[in-house]
Amino acid sequence: MSNEIQNELRKLPAVEKVLADPALTAAIERYSHPVVTEAVRAVIDRLRQSAASGNKTPAPGAVAELVKRHLAEEWPGLLQSVINATGIILHTNLGRAPLSAETMAALANILGGYYALELDLNTGERGIRAREMEKLLTLLTGAESALVVNNNAAAVLLVLTALAKGREVIVSRSELVQIGGGFRVPDVMAQSGAIMREVGTTNQTFARDFEQAINDNTAMLLSVHRSNFALRGFTHDPALSELREIAGNFGLPFVYDLGSGAVVDTAGYGMSHEPTVGQALDAGADLVCVSGDKLLGGPQCGIILGKEVFIDQLRKHPLLRAVRVDKYAAVALTATVLQYLKGDTGKLPAYAMMAAPIEELDSRGWAMAGLLNAAGLSAEVIDGESLAGGGSLPDETLPTKLVAVAVRGNMDEFSRRLRLGTPPVLGRVWEGRFIIDLRTVFLTQDNDLTQAVIAAAGA
Ligand SMILES: *Cc1c(COP(=O)(O)O)cnc(C)c1O
Repeated sequence: MSNEIQNELRKLPAVEKVLADPALTAAIERYSHPVVTEAVRAVIDRLRQSAASGNKTPAPGAVAELVKRHLAEEWPGLLQSVINATGIILHTNLGRAPLSAETMAALANILGGYYALELDLNTGERGIRAREMEKLLTLLTGAESALVVNNNAAAVLLVLTALAKGREVIVSRSELVQIGGGFRVPDVMAQSGAIMREVGTTNQTFARDFEQAINDNTAMLLSVHRSNFALRGFTHDPALSELREIAGNFGLPFVYDLGSGAVVDTAGYGMSHEPTVGQALDAGADLVCVSGDKLLGGPQCGIILGKEVFIDQLRKHPLLRAVRVDKYAAVALTATVLQYLKGDTGKLPAYAMMAAPIEELDSRGWAMAGLLNAAGLSAEVIDGESLAGGGSLPDETLPTKLVAVAVRGNMDEFSRRLRLGTPPVLGRVWEGRFIIDLRTVFLTQDNDLTQAVIAAAGA
């Protein structure tokens, strides 16, 4: 090893010395001592390798800056709320629905203490978990009974396992969907131990296809809402009422995995009509499974609604213990459902975003574009579309106004800088411009967003 290299290696600061640098005090406050220590070690390791291959060791003060950058890249989202400028209202990778102020207040009130989650306050004995939440759900949907689990994937898995394990479930070939990264109907079926019996074709399935497939080993008729894609052209699906009738004739349960659907009629929000839970139950599904965050704009959970006889079997199944709703979601869902019952859907962020007037998006957009232009960027407001997203309301877009920002340099780099900023910002890149859809940005975030774009463009 040359003397020069040895010299550079000797200049490397000790971990403790870097940690004591006042420039890292705020970082230790934010990330904790062990996290920053790990970052310091990683940076010094890197500098050691770099010095060994003949590079200079940076001045002591510069090491803290490298540590800060390392932390920003390794822990970018740590307890940070993200600005969602994608326009996708139920963005699955961003946790789907933002909760309402009323729901947050209920969480803040209760979660720091105890809650009668599974205790009957009348008797003082163990009760049914979140009984009041389930009672509210039956009032909201008109269902005979309700059961809430971790998410809709768990709901479908529980229903298939408890009611059809080792027996056949008849489902149309046109409904063997994949939702998001992991939910695939054939895989969930296999996991449950039920035997999938596909009928019909990709585009045409009739009620008689279901009827002809029924045998002594049939346990269930299943229909799956094609949440995230649409079938057009020469197509046919049996009506829910036809499947109900066949299931009834053979004494079988008819289960509908609705996934998203709606509680209130989405046509009132400028979207096309989605089946509501009430309609699915009226049309005769014995059980309907939905996602609480897609259906209600509430917390992540899966909701099973329908006939008491079947829900009762689900309650007794050992798998329920593994997939049951947790305390946080129970409180949040109770508060969200109460808001529906009070007619306060306008206060739920997802609905407020859907209903945002286009003129308001336009004026907010021009205000932002004005500030960006004044800062030397090139921005304008253009027409575009927002997506409901979250594997729900397929094809559904809402006309919107977009802030389009032209940026010099590499667009991917620019987007990455925004994602790694504080707060992180997520937008879209389209035809060489950075696109901001203010529909999913809270009014209180407009200023932070503007500043973040200016900072990322200047860097
Ligand atoms: C979204 C969806 C699921 C999965 O629901 P999660 O709550 O994400 O687990 C299952 N089935 C359908 C039809 C869906 O739309």
